[in-house]
Amino acid sequence: MYINGIWKTSEGTFAVFNPANGNKVGDAVDGSRADAREAIDAAHAAFPAWSSSTAYARADILLKAYSLMIEQKQALAELMTTEQGKPLKAALNEVQYAADFLRWFAEEAKRNYGETIPSARADQRFMVRYQAIGVVAAITPWNYPISMITRKVAPALAAGCTIVLKPAEATPLCAQAVFKILEEAGVPEGVANLVTCEDPVEIGKEFCSNKKVKKITFTGSTAVGKMLAADAAPQLKRVSMELGGHAPFIVFEDADPVHAAKGASLVKFLNTGQACISPNRIFVHRSILDSFLKTFTARIEKMNAGDGMSATTSIGPLVNEAAVDKVATQVEDALNKGAKLHHGGERLLAGDLSKGHFYAPTLISDVNDEMRIYREETFGPVAAVIPFDDYDEVIAMANDTDFGLAAYVYTNNLSTAMRAFEALNFGIIGINDINPTSAAAPFGGMNESGLGREGAREGLAEYLETKLGGFSI
Ligand code: ADP
Repeated sequence: MYINGIWKTSEGTFAVFNPANGNKVGDAVDGSRADAREAIDAAHAAFPAWSSSTAYARADILLKAYSLMIEQKQALAELMTTEQGKPLKAALNEVQYAADFLRWFAEEAKRNYGETIPSARADQRFMVRYQAIGVVAAITPWNYPISMITRKVAPALAAGCTIVLKPAEATPLCAQAVFKILEEAGVPEGVANLVTCEDPVEIGKEFCSNKKVKKITFTGSTAVGKMLAADAAPQLKRVSMELGGHAPFIVFEDADPVHAAKGASLVKFLNTGQACISPNRIFVHRSILDSFLKTFTARIEKMNAGDGMSATTSIGPLVNEAAVDKVATQVEDALNKGAKLHHGGERLLAGDLSKGHFYAPTLISDVNDEMRIYREETFGPVAAVIPFDDYDEVIAMANDTDFGLAAYVYTNNLSTAMRAFEALNFGIIGINDINPTSAAAPFGGMNESGLGREGAREGLAEYLETKLGGFSI
């Protein structure tokens, strides 16, 4: 753990395992509620000086962290693949994405402009400034174990907030590596603190009940997000929530089915389907269904599951056995209710794969609303295809979910693209685009996918409080 500028050990530790082979990767310190309190005290003590430092000084530190992260890209990616399982190439991409947040918010720190507002009174002036909220408590997930940290730490520090972060218990080593970079970049003591632990419950309680914490920012499941938001409510703490998704992927009649199938297969199996913007229901117009399924199947057949450190691996393991069980149960349920299996549909147990948590990349079609996969987030390598016949029907089906994070549309008709962009109730819409994400673009969901946005100008605003000055002159 890193508290008040000191790397802290403790007698209690917990082991971290490689999901591809079950080997132990290392140990992390098992922090307690008292450690969380100590970290919050340190962040609270560091806040006055940090928040009143210049944006230029804060930006310089974030830029230094950016350079260090780029220099260490290969080593960080290898650590990520070993700890989290994604193929090395995907890990390299993630480290770049993570570093991009450090650079983007170093730049944004200097653009925290205020406003003057004309008054109806001749003797009055209004001035608005946006100032740092205070101590932030952050909780991050294991699926993107480095970028989900910088997506919170970079804007918080840019705004002038101080932070205590608790990473996921499956990926504390990536978190340690990020905080080593922050330390080396010159982040002053107490400004950024890391508390690792095996059981998050007590630390979550401390974050939500400690009066010194002014904001909770969370990325993870909708169930835990709702619980944390409720626990933070008695003190009206600010909250940002990046939660689950159930992305529709719509391929309209006029789209090129081959191009769409390539896009769908790429984004579906990214991170073995363990992404909140992963397509969960793929709607394909009936007139091009056969061609779409044929291309999709051909692409799946070429995918190699295995250890992400091997150059031939295109699909890594799932995070744990519970994740494999969830995927297997959803596929079994769909097949029992009439879905058609085109590829996969089984655990992978051959040879060394049996030591890890592998499930075959899977394609099923004829999915309908009676099946669990139609509503439940899958978080695994299963592509579920649903045929449709007309525009209104597919928009209604796509919007028929409590989630509202990402949606994808494939069409060559500009009018269909624009109408769908406006009609879909999701925070992020990819139009013929499978990667509508960037440090410069607002990321976040509607409905039960969350509150607030990360990245972009909005990402900085999440850490700022609006203050109005009314001056009688
Ligand atoms: P997932 O199911 O994808 O692991 P979770 O929401 O359980 O998603 O985990 C995301 C993050 O939330 C992790 O850092 C985890 O430790 C943390 N977390 C899980 N349960 C709680 C809780 N009760 N209180 C605080 N944090 C929690």
